[in-house]
Amino acid sequence: MSKKDKYAPETNLAGGLGWMDESFKGVIPGIYPSTTYEREKDGSYPSGRVYTRDQNPNYDQPEQILAGLEKGADAFLFSSGMAAAVTVFQALKPGDHIVAPKVMYWALRNWLVTFGADWGLETSFVENGDLSELNNAVIPGKTKMLWMETPANPTWVVDDIKAWSEAAKKVGAVLVVDNTVATPILTRPIEHGADIVMHSATKYLNGHSDVLAGALITKEENDFWTRIKRVRNAGGAVLGPFEAWLLMRGMRTLSIRVKKASDNAMAIAKALENHENVEAVLYPGLESHPDFAVTSRQMSGGFGGMLSIRVKGGEQASMDVAARLVLFKRATSLGGVESLVEHRASIEGPDTPCPVDLLRLSVGIEDADDLIADLKEALEG
Ligand code: PLP
Repeated sequence: MSKKDKYAPETNLAGGLGWMDESFKGVIPGIYPSTTYEREKDGSYPSGRVYTRDQNPNYDQPEQILAGLEKGADAFLFSSGMAAAVTVFQALKPGDHIVAPKVMYWALRNWLVTFGADWGLETSFVENGDLSELNNAVIPGKTKMLWMETPANPTWVVDDIKAWSEAAKKVGAVLVVDNTVATPILTRPIEHGADIVMHSATKYLNGHSDVLAGALITKEENDFWTRIKRVRNAGGAVLGPFEAWLLMRGMRTLSIRVKKASDNAMAIAKALENHENVEAVLYPGLESHPDFAVTSRQMSGGFGGMLSIRVKGGEQASMDVAARLVLFKRATSLGGVESLVEHRASIEGPDTPCPVDLLRLSVGIEDADDLIADLKEALEG
């Protein structure tokens, strides 16, 4: 049994799998800025490293921890979540067909319909939750990848990973799940049939809104994973050593941050569910959520720190509520310890499927009553 299998995720995260700075016995490993590694007189590389592009020692500890958390065989870090996702698409070939949901991270959807299409990738977007549309969309011999995100940004619909994995298997396609929002603390997609898991590590994994990073984790080290490794090495969309070190520092507290943010989000969802100025609360943890049955199967330990509210009175009313909030800062992104609010439709542009009265809340780890009071004061003008 390896160290990473012996202990609970919280233990591996907090203790960093026991990694230390071996030169000085510091309890925290150092930062290794060197870009190149010395060769022996006989031409060999005794450190096993040649050049930093995908071999920086600061990747090793977070990659091992992420592979363990996601129950995968291997993990790679990238310079951003987008770089991680785009590397997966670049590992496909022109003419390959992808199936993805209509509601997903907008910049990624946008990449698929612009650059992805230019490079010969064809994507069919299906209605989230519609399994018959999904099963009709996969084409034997042509569909090479199913891409999903759950809970999906910014309406937090929850798609069934197992059902998507069955649809992928039917045609021999790879299933990739963007697990940024649930994090491996609440959902481990590989346990439900995913082949690859993707993260914007900028969000919960780092958790302090001060690192841009991405990650991929694979269920098995197969030919497709080797191709992803080659694309990463050739393209060089890798993380700097200092960012990898900061990411590792953030990850040590992942579990308590995710649980506290989930508790806060649930308290807010319940407090606002029947508020007179709220049209709807979109939160997968509410029993009234249409996907609650799937959510309960797929998520455990909490339902995440992301929720959206639809404000009565339309777009201007929701903008006014955002303007009155004090504790929730008006900013994009999510997954930090501080709470953020965002009017998503105006960020996503005219082709957005996001309702114009929707405010997306990234709930932090502050006191729940303070956050609820801030929201109620803003809603009540
Ligand atoms: N996936 C999701 C769900 C996201 O929310 C984001 C960023 O907001 C990304 C991917 C892209 O990640 P990054 O901003 O690290 O490139």
